[in-house]
Amino acid sequence: MKSIRDFDIDNKKVLIRCDFNVPIKDGVITDDTRIVGALDTINYAIDKGAKVILFSHLGRIKEEADLEKNDLKIVSTRLSELLNKKVTFVPSTRGKELEEKINNMNSGDVLLFQNTRYEDLDGKKESSNDSELGKYWASLGDYFINDAFGTIHRAHASNVGIASNMEGRCGFGFLVEKELNALSILDNPERPFVVILGGAKVEDKIGVIKNLVTKADKILIGGGMAYTFLKASGKEIGESLLDEGNIDFCKDILNSYNDKIVLPIDTVVADVTDEGVSNIKTVDFDSIGSTDKGVDVGEKTVELFEDILKDAKTVIWNGPLGMYEHEELIKGTNEVLSYLVNNNIKTVLGGGDVVAAAELCGLKDKVFHASTGGGATLEYLEGKELPGIVSIK
Ligand code: ADP
Ligand code: MG
Repeated sequence: MKSIRDFDIDNKKVLIRCDFNVPIKDGVITDDTRIVGALDTINYAIDKGAKVILFSHLGRIKEEADLEKNDLKIVSTRLSELLNKKVTFVPSTRGKELEEKINNMNSGDVLLFQNTRYEDLDGKKESSNDSELGKYWASLGDYFINDAFGTIHRAHASNVGIASNMEGRCGFGFLVEKELNALSILDNPERPFVVILGGAKVEDKIGVIKNLVTKADKILIGGGMAYTFLKASGKEIGESLLDEGNIDFCKDILNSYNDKIVLPIDTVVADVTDEGVSNIKTVDFDSIGSTDKGVDVGEKTVELFEDILKDAKTVIWNGPLGMYEHEELIKGTNEVLSYLVNNNIKTVLGGGDVVAAAELCGLKDKVFHASTGGGATLEYLEGKELPGIVSIK
């Protein structure tokens, strides 16, 4: 696996695909985490004397009206503040101005060009990995560094397209490298290796379950999907979330891996409406009411999970154990997460919501790794080959 460290980039034009897809409201960046996250790689390239050429997508471009609200210039302003250095912004994705500005760069200069998805307006050139576009962007640099993990499961012109035209001259940036290093513990985990799965629907997680069940020593299931597994095992679940179409899938998994799968033994039930959460109580599955709706794992389940986790050496966790968006229902997730942190158990969190829940608990920075990839992380956990990785390897 090549990284930016493996190349002599002094005075070379280095194309760096960043993930600057930041949230913007009323013309203001509301969270600059992604820009801050890119600084290590960018500063490294500057320090090594590269001519640093940055690019990223921002939002989606379907029609003319999307252009203005997804103008990447706003990122160049913030980036310049963070780097304490001039960042030249080029408001186009190709053409004479871009080429001239690049040719006039000096060692250590930083340039950012316009949102790569501006190319989507005319025939989705970026998102469909138009071969001419990838070739053109590749022609602008001497090396290509992919540091955008969030899009690494996509074959776009700005990652796969460029890489396939720069064979032997591409590598990963520090952010992607960190993600891949953390997620690669899956390949050879220190055991016992325990997987925690939660979230809403079984349907969304079939690939993850199939892949991880073969690797894990135990799989602890919570969240909305637990109820379909419970139903498949013959339990009453009241009006809890049921993924009818996947009951048979759950039965198969339970039959094949019955020594590995651990299901909740009690559940918090409540009424959840727009006004809030009411009638909260905890019940066992033999006393659950026919209209009860499960919203979090119960205290006995937390204890059961902790008892299994106490010996764990590696944990991968996808999907929260309850409807954590409501502060009353983050308890199960918070308790299990606190247990992992307090006992220094090597834990990787993968999934937008489980990471968001960890952030709400104030524990995101205390785990071994909280993966930022969303869809990319999920596909990695499904065991899929990710185009952005393959193209660089
Ligand atoms: P991740 O983003 O970590 O992969 P998911 O997107 O699969 O997780 O699931 C997150 C969602 O699951 C949250 O919106 C949460 O409210 C929901 N959820 C968790 N437990 C339950 C439950 N018991 N019933 C319904 N939804 C649930
Ligand atoms: Mg999610």
